[in-house]
Amino acid sequence: GVERILVSSCLVGRPVRYDGAARPVAGDLFERWRAEGRLVPFCPEVSGGLPVPRPPAEIVGGDGGAVLDGTALVVTRAGADVTAEFLRGARLALAAARRAGARIALLKEGSPSCGSGRVHDGTFSGASVPGTGVTTALLRREGIRVFGEDDLDAVQELLIALERAD
Ligand code: SF4
Repeated sequence: GVERILVSSCLVGRPVRYDGAARPVAGDLFERWRAEGRLVPFCPEVSGGLPVPRPPAEIVGGDGGAVLDGTALVVTRAGADVTAEFLRGARLALAAARRAGARIALLKEGSPSCGSGRVHDGTFSGASVPGTGVTTALLRREGIRVFGEDDLDAVQELLIALERAD
């Protein structure tokens, strides 16, 4: 079978972001993967039980890895603790990847769930710091390779390498 890719639902055009919008990815590679049936859309925050739209949330006290370790929280600007929903969403994302046999994930950069290189700094000021979202942190700990939407070429290289190795 083809190597499948767990992908943030908002990147395939589903309007599931906190603000009710999508962030669809364009480009030949992405369209090819879609046509090949590789894409497995998943939104950790919606699956974790949060509504659309929802208040934006940021990680306070670290990044997604610290949330997994219990040393950081995910909160809304108003101070509501949504850590449990983010953790549930991360576990369900891992389960979805396993079910699909996906060893690669392509997730929305900057998100407190899906970020793979940077996340907001917890001050709700728009500033970002290097780090990963909660779902990305869990997937990486479990051996799944996570990329952001600016790394489509790297995803394609890995796809080819994994399929050659199988
Ligand atoms: Fe997109 Fe991930 Fe945010 Fe869901 S949690 S809207 S998939 S970035």
